[in-house]
Amino acid sequence: MSIRPVCAGNPMAKLIPIPVRRAAQASSRVEALVRDMRARSLRSAPDGTIDTRGRPLRDLRISVTDRCNFRCVYCMPKDVFGRDYPFLPHDELLTFEEIARLARLFKAQGVVKVRLTGGEPLLRKNIERLIEMLAAISGLDLTLTTNGALLARKAQSLKDAGLERVTVSLDALDDSVFRTMNDVDFPVERVLEGIDAAAAAGLAPIKLNAVIKRSTNEREILPLARHFRGSGHILRFIEYMDVGHTNGWRMDEVVPAAEVLKTIDAEFPIEPIDPNYPGEVADRDCTRARLSTDGKVYTCLFGTEGFDLKTPLRAGASDDALGDAIAAIWRQRADRYSELRTAATGALPKVEMSYIGG
Ligand code: SF4
Repeated sequence: MSIRPVCAGNPMAKLIPIPVRRAAQASSRVEALVRDMRARSLRSAPDGTIDTRGRPLRDLRISVTDRCNFRCVYCMPKDVFGRDYPFLPHDELLTFEEIARLARLFKAQGVVKVRLTGGEPLLRKNIERLIEMLAAISGLDLTLTTNGALLARKAQSLKDAGLERVTVSLDALDDSVFRTMNDVDFPVERVLEGIDAAAAAGLAPIKLNAVIKRSTNEREILPLARHFRGSGHILRFIEYMDVGHTNGWRMDEVVPAAEVLKTIDAEFPIEPIDPNYPGEVADRDCTRARLSTDGKVYTCLFGTEGFDLKTPLRAGASDDALGDAIAAIWRQRADRYSELRTAATGALPKVEMSYIGG
């Protein structure tokens, strides 16, 4: 069991469509960056492209859909994501071929791990086919984050397609708390069945992400710890974060990591462990880029402006040009919002999580 203040693993599925004008601006920003990079004859570092703070590009989160079958109150509140919500039209979504091509190009810049997210990624039709295509790219560690609702049904086909592991979002064991949090009356039992199916299929080690929100599920910390202790699964508690526009985040709803640790330590003495790899702890030395459902790259969970790759991709850009664009985007990265997070930043504009791959 690990208890870490990591970025939310939940692929929070909220969408704020970026107007065409902004997409065009993002595209021209990419072109300007590429020109600047070429002018300075910058080259990829031998171990991958690095940003302005020396951080290599290692992880890529790919959002494959902006839709979800849950309406978690902190992510897709029903009053915003109702029946009439304008989710992306199908032709705006990157195709599987486009995603696989970009994944190959990201790998050439240093990416070693790809995580599929959403929205709820298992809602994307024929997701197994995309997994097959990504699994065929050698040297990529391939994983997926899900709410677990469809996992019991799909675990084996995901494994057969080449998926290596899953992370399941699970904020409560108590059925009524769980149903309240997903806000679609979905029973926790079916998610637990999904976790068992994933374990049986060999999608291990399974990671479980619990977002803890004050006065909502903080009483679930110990039951979750007790339930999964000794299971072989990795349980991670996540601070409720000021992500997106619509979750109404407030500092006083955050249960700080230190408090989670203290709660658990009182029953199960805690020993610190090392992260599995640099960047696993996703706050201070983040090595992660995010590719939105419609092909924009974000270099920070708290970013507001993405870099549009879909436009040049569909305009026939070569692999070299797209690779240069990806390298240029990463090299100019200086984001360190996580370090600066305070109550004041809650009011800053941010992009919704579905858009950037959770
Ligand atoms: S299951 Fe995940 S993506 Fe769906 S609403 Fe909940 S947090 Fe958001």
